[in-house]
Amino acid sequence: MNAEIIAVGSEMLTPQRVDTNSLYLTDQLNAYGVEVVFKCIVGDDRTLLTDTIRLAISRSEIVILTGGLGPTEDDVTRDAVAQALGVQQTYQPEVFENIVAMFSRLGRKIADNNKRQAMLIDGAEWLENTRGTAPGQWLRTKHGVLMLLPGPPKELTTMYEREVRDRLVAMLPKQALRTRWYRVAGMGESDLDQLIAPVYTRYSNPVTTVLAKAGDIEVHLRARLETPEAAEILVEEVGLQVEALLGDRIYSRNGDPLDRTVGGMLVARGQMVAVAESCTGGLLGARLTEAPGASDWFSGGYLVYSLEMKKALVGEADGAEIEAHGVVSERTAALLAQAAAKKSGATHGVSITGVAGPDGGTAENPVGTVWIGVASDQGVETRRYRFPGDRGRIRTLAAQSALDLLRRHLLVQKG
Ligand code: ATP
Ligand code: MG
Repeated sequence: MNAEIIAVGSEMLTPQRVDTNSLYLTDQLNAYGVEVVFKCIVGDDRTLLTDTIRLAISRSEIVILTGGLGPTEDDVTRDAVAQALGVQQTYQPEVFENIVAMFSRLGRKIADNNKRQAMLIDGAEWLENTRGTAPGQWLRTKHGVLMLLPGPPKELTTMYEREVRDRLVAMLPKQALRTRWYRVAGMGESDLDQLIAPVYTRYSNPVTTVLAKAGDIEVHLRARLETPEAAEILVEEVGLQVEALLGDRIYSRNGDPLDRTVGGMLVARGQMVAVAESCTGGLLGARLTEAPGASDWFSGGYLVYSLEMKKALVGEADGAEIEAHGVVSERTAALLAQAAAKKSGATHGVSITGVAGPDGGTAENPVGTVWIGVASDQGVETRRYRFPGDRGRIRTLAAQSALDLLRRHLLVQKG
């Protein structure tokens, strides 16, 4: 089934406003297998809006309007819908009572023009607005349904959840949804796509979506069939193939972010981590403390930005080593990771030292070069990275990669 969304309001056409309502609605509709095939923003212009509505109801089963339900002359949605359908509006005392009650709850005085808001388009079901004064409306059309929802996002989402979702589900063909959700680290979006596209392009059901942020990719599979069992079999069939290709690059199957995954692995092993950060300036520590309960896996960290601070952390003899090898080097990453663990008493130490740029690159260590170290009683592991992008991206990727290197260290750790 196809849907169309029309956002109404001249203010939504200004550079200061973003039509977030349609994003929310699209997410909701997609969850039930409804595809949004068209959306637009129309200013407060009755003629334009009437034409837009006529076209929408002639071609789409679900048409959703948001905004323009207020009491003022420039709120034209109700009138435009009535005109497009060629029907009248009727004043509903019951709806007005509700608006009056809402006004008294909000401590506001009701104006005469609020009566306009109590007009229902003939044939419409009233959708109660518990967060504001503009009522919503639900109307049958030749091909399906048309609804009028309020513009303010809080009012819209509340009305959707309370009044719209169940009505919508009741008119959709019965389908069960089964999903898989993988989060992946340690590879770029295009590499991942190249790897798994040969699998997912063979299936239109389940639908596969790949969402990428810096160093963090999500793969969603959504299978829809008549019964939950059939949908599960289908999503499992495709999921297993995707899992086989991605292997241990999948760090989460339930949506947990990488820091929480790593934290959980440490807790399960009764271990803790401490960090020594240079170019990330505390980002890794921030990541490791994002989830509640972080004190169960994170001891703390050393923010060793200058050479002096690095030397102070590792002690005199190793400080000379750092000077000899340079601050951006394998040896320095190893020494910092070991010192972080040793000084804090944590079982694991993780270090980051590199060139975040935009200046400071050399032929040997160009901007984006980052060494990451992980130390534990299993020894010390180091890896050199060359991250693309600006300073912000390099730092984000460094923190993410450090978490992933620690995860891999924990995966292969013995005993
Ligand atoms: P009201 O009674 O508050 O006037 P309304 O249904 O007429 O309700 P609008 O006047 O169209 O709503 O919008 C009110 C405010 O809600 C807008 O100024 C804007 O900030 C927000 N809004 C409207 N439409 C959208 C949208 N599509 N996405 C995000 N925000 C929106
Ligand atoms: Mg308004």
